[in-house]
Amino acid sequence: MSGPAAASADEGSPTRLAQARRRVAAAFSGDGELAAAVAGFSPRDSQREMALAVFDTIAERGTLIAEAGTGTGKTFAYLVPALLAGGKVLVSTGTKTLQDQVYAKDLGTLIRALGLSVDAALLKGRQNYLCLQRLSRTEAEGRLPSRQDAEHLRSIVRFARLTATGDRAELADVPETAPIWPLVTSTRENCLGQECPRLDECFVYRARRAAQAADVVVVNHHLFLADLALRDDSVRDFLPATDTVILDEAHQLPKVAADFFGTGWSLAQLADLAQDARALGLAKAAGGAAWVALSQAIEAAGRNLRLLLAESGLGAGARIALDRCPAKAPLRRGVAGVDEALAALAAAVQANAGRDVELDALGPRLAALRAEIAAWLAALDDSAVPEQAAEAKEEDGADQRVRWIAVTARSFTPRRWRRAPPSPVPASGRCRRGS
Ligand code: SF4
Repeated sequence: MSGPAAASADEGSPTRLAQARRRVAAAFSGDGELAAAVAGFSPRDSQREMALAVFDTIAERGTLIAEAGTGTGKTFAYLVPALLAGGKVLVSTGTKTLQDQVYAKDLGTLIRALGLSVDAALLKGRQNYLCLQRLSRTEAEGRLPSRQDAEHLRSIVRFARLTATGDRAELADVPETAPIWPLVTSTRENCLGQECPRLDECFVYRARRAAQAADVVVVNHHLFLADLALRDDSVRDFLPATDTVILDEAHQLPKVAADFFGTGWSLAQLADLAQDARALGLAKAAGGAAWVALSQAIEAAGRNLRLLLAESGLGAGARIALDRCPAKAPLRRGVAGVDEALAALAAAVQANAGRDVELDALGPRLAALRAEIAAWLAALDDSAVPEQAAEAKEEDGADQRVRWIAVTARSFTPRRWRRAPPSPVPASGRCRRGS
């Protein structure tokens, strides 16, 4: 299991750094600050050794890749030196569960044990926070497919009045997979940003502002890498001001990076768009177009594509490179059908331009999705050419992307990413392994 990779530090004076280093060593001893304040703490040589290696790396503004065995107490071993070295710290975890644990449990415990005055913040991806604008719209629309959705919506409306963070993890009543969530949370594509009438009270922006002001920010790899891949801007805003970056569970990075250093689209995205187009069209420009028929056509095209996947030999669980797709013609037909339905909606949105800001926002969203789909249609045509010709083209630098298709029981996601995603950890640095 990988431990943290830590880089950079505030430029403290040699004396201050030496004092801080002694304090790190002492904190992990049998009569140190941790033993005095943390119930059940017992000193471990491996934990102290890792903590000192992390501290030295921070002091040198270097890079460390550390691997430590179970029971080392890795979280304390990177948090204590990071806290005592000072400066702004970013911790990224592999899972949201560990993220919540580091923020809610370990950080608080250590800040108290070390008697520090440190402001910490938790930051998750925007889909984890209620979107007040979309919640109001969904509530006003009042049309939900099932009674359970309506019950969930009532719980969420009550929760929105009480919560300080808008973090949906605080609402245990509504399961994480409930279909209501996409209707009351935002994506980068459907967020109104500066145009939003609820911007001042927006939970997403509040969490980002708190993160920018904090000394220690805890994120997860999905958010960290999504932002590095320029898909959103919450981490990128404060990363340049960060002195120390710690990537816990770093062995999970390649898989997460593969998802984010690329572009793609999905059937879920189509369903969201169809739902938004129907709701917004009826609410803001009723009579301006046949909104219900247009959104139904998109949903039908999505269903048709799903059927054609089977004809293309892509069953649930398939995750293959486009080049290896057994039969591309049915897939191309399905994708072209989706594009046709989107084109009809784009024309309707264009014809109603200027009537409402949210309706207008569908325009760029449709354009981005159609551009991605156009690239796939071109790739489906291109991939019919002999492999050697395709390779020659890539060597020319004309196309350095790899295209993959992932199919599950509920989703279809074509993705493409560059052949060599940039490494989040610099190639040079030290490597430590302990047990
Ligand atoms: S700014 Fe975006 S996320 Fe925030 S309330 Fe408005 S639409 Fe929702």
